Amino acid sequence: MKDLHYCENMKLVDAWYEHDEGCFILNLNRVATEIDLQENHYLEEVGQIIETIAIKVRYCPYCGKKVDGASTSLSPSFVHYDFSKW
Ligand SMILES: [Zn+2]
Repeated sequence: MKDLHYCENMKLVDAWYEHDEGCFILNLNRVATEIDLQENHYLEEVGQIIETIAIKVRYCPYCGKKVDGASTSLSPSFVHYDFSKW
């Protein structure tokens, strides 16, 4: 398995890369803050994952490095998961 890109710019957020069927995928989580808990009573605790988005990429958007193993042809797409509702 190829080493996935480790980006210094991503270390403070809940973000990671994965490699799936020739595509490099950037995953980002949005986690609940105290304000989110006040506005949405379905949420239970600070730090709970509210949303996850997975985006196919060829280059890291935070440092510009081309990610190893990324497909040369890539159609833009993303997957969005919303965990803020029942
Ligand atoms: Zn990077």
